[in-house]
Amino acid sequence: MDLTTPLKYLKGVGPVRAEMLAAKGLHVVEDLLMYSPFRYEDRSNVKPISELAPGEMATVIAEVRSASLSGFRRKNLGMFQATFGDGSAHRLVGKWFHGGYLEDVLTPGLRVALYGKVEFDNYTGDLTMLHPEFETLTAEEDSDAALHTGRIVPIYEAAGKVTPRVLRSIVWRALESLDRLPDPLPRTVRERLKLPDRDESVRTMHFPSPKEDLRLLNSFRAPSQWRMIFEEFFWLECGLTLKKSKARLRQGTAFELTERVREQIKRMLPFKPTNAQKRVLKEIADDMASVSPMYRLLQGDVGSGKTLVAAEAAIIAIENGYQVAVLAPTEILATQHYFSFRELFKELGYQVVLLTGSASKREKAALKRLLEAGLVQVGIGTHALLEESVEFRKLGLAIIDEQHRFGVEQRLRIVEKGVAPDVLVMTATPIPRTLALTIYGDLDVSIIDELPPGRKPIVTKHVTEEKIEQVWSFLRTQVDAGRQAYVVYPLIEESETQSMKAAQKMHQHLSEAVYPDLKVGLLHGRLTPGAKESAMASFKRGETQILVSTTVIEVGVDVPNATVMVIEQAERFGLSQLHQLRGRVGRGGEQSTCVLVTAKMNDLARERIRTMTDSNDGFYIAEMDMKLRGPGEFFGTKQAGLPALRIGNILRDGEILEIARNEAEAFVGHPPGEEELRRAVAYIRDHWQRRYGLVQVG
Ligand code: ADP
Ligand code: MG
Repeated sequence: MDLTTPLKYLKGVGPVRAEMLAAKGLHVVEDLLMYSPFRYEDRSNVKPISELAPGEMATVIAEVRSASLSGFRRKNLGMFQATFGDGSAHRLVGKWFHGGYLEDVLTPGLRVALYGKVEFDNYTGDLTMLHPEFETLTAEEDSDAALHTGRIVPIYEAAGKVTPRVLRSIVWRALESLDRLPDPLPRTVRERLKLPDRDESVRTMHFPSPKEDLRLLNSFRAPSQWRMIFEEFFWLECGLTLKKSKARLRQGTAFELTERVREQIKRMLPFKPTNAQKRVLKEIADDMASVSPMYRLLQGDVGSGKTLVAAEAAIIAIENGYQVAVLAPTEILATQHYFSFRELFKELGYQVVLLTGSASKREKAALKRLLEAGLVQVGIGTHALLEESVEFRKLGLAIIDEQHRFGVEQRLRIVEKGVAPDVLVMTATPIPRTLALTIYGDLDVSIIDELPPGRKPIVTKHVTEEKIEQVWSFLRTQVDAGRQAYVVYPLIEESETQSMKAAQKMHQHLSEAVYPDLKVGLLHGRLTPGAKESAMASFKRGETQILVSTTVIEVGVDVPNATVMVIEQAERFGLSQLHQLRGRVGRGGEQSTCVLVTAKMNDLARERIRTMTDSNDGFYIAEMDMKLRGPGEFFGTKQAGLPALRIGNILRDGEILEIARNEAEAFVGHPPGEEELRRAVAYIRDHWQRRYGLVQVG
């Protein structure tokens, strides 16, 4: 048996169990070894009932003598109580609230191992355990009972009907029949960090020695666990770093930063760039001037002015005779970019076109011809831009407004429309650093960490539905003072129609009942492009005082005179989305307010609302968002490319990830020897490439 042996060949794993394990991603022995326990219990204190002392944590092997359900009539509300004996005259009582489900499990005669805190019941004089952990012992399993009690035992997440206990046996047997595991980590790294060897680490991670510190184990910081977590991150980061250095070996375009480029940028700039914008532009310009292609991620909080920086980069490419592609994940976002770029470039004489799915065949054909002939400088679009029939005459820069929706392949597809063009990836809101390191680890990062001057921090208020009248009168005072307001129904992807209807209804209510004297606009995704444009334009000109809308304004719309953002049904939306929406106000010199209106909330929603009222810092909010949703959900459902980590946990192990990143960069940048690097590349190719989409690492 070796690491690649399919699990179905293991003793105790038949085809049925193998299938359940496979559903958890466990196919071969190595997968099983990387299936870390999620918790450990110290069951070394095994005692006969007669020797139990109140207050101690103990394990007892005993038989169910009697069982009963009492208290409530409704089964799942009852208190389940079982009496256990172990051959002596003494007895132990186990109690489970809401334990109705145990009636068919803990039946008299059954042998079990119980683990829990011993207590003394003053009333009955019984020794009791409240909600003890228990495992049933069958005759067969009793033979390796030593595995499950009398030691620190690993607790695994069940795989279908494969219980933690069965998993424990399977892992144990696998480890027993395996020879010493080789250690693929480079020796230099291992020595510098004083890491335990892999064989020892894997074995201890599953079956810790009695000396191990339980608390350390349960916080995943025992040396063996640390090493296994590090190892996973190290290979991932090596893969990303290799990919990054390989991509940069390609021959790209060295754009010239001429006087003319500087002049054109100056002509475009509607205002003085912030220091952060200047610094970031310099990073981008240096990349563009170099012959190796740029792969850069532009991060910045909402409203920090990323668009301006992207436009500056575009000027560099255009003035060198190249075209620019701007790829956006949704039609609305693409349209917004189209308006912004057209506005910014109107003095410079660049032609900007918009290519989306809703363009007619004839329009599309015409736009494609223009791009192909090089008659337009900037092509903005959605996935439609990725179609094979779309060709650029001379694509020099691809700006990808990621919003985390484009997979690696789609990024590649736009890149292939040019000859190693420079690539700038933008994100709408900040991404937690640990996530950025895992998903965008092959990109360089520029961060705009400063807002344009004169911004007053937005005040965020939480209001429950019943108090909406107060919101409307507040809004009235703002409009009377000459300001404008948004009322938004954020969009849930599955129910676009629903939020559109809600917006329509609110529009009618506000324009007829609440503000019959004001002009209330309506904007949603189902309007024709022309209607959308005119609704936005009217708001922008200040003719419409209040704009009721679905999340179409989540991106883009830029009206500094708007000072109120009312977000309806705020409890239903993710933190990043709320923050993104809030960023639509606070863009002028006036004090702005964001009002979060909620109906019923659960604890998570309450936590989100609290975070929003507490902070305006997008990087902090992104961290909270990741904590509340989990790294897998941070980007929503369509996210592509989040590696499926097995042992490492981005939330828990951020500092190990940083260390692994540094070690990986050092190792790839200055490998101790050709042979070592070759071995590492081969290891990554065999073990990691497919899983993490690290295409062509070596
Ligand atoms: P982001 O895309 O990063 O959310 P935008 O590019 O939409 O932000 O910019 C936000 C707002 O700030 C826009 O109104 C933009 O015109 C304005 N802005 C950008 N840079 C500056 C600057 N340096 N000074 C003043 N206003 C700026
Ligand atoms: Mg370049």
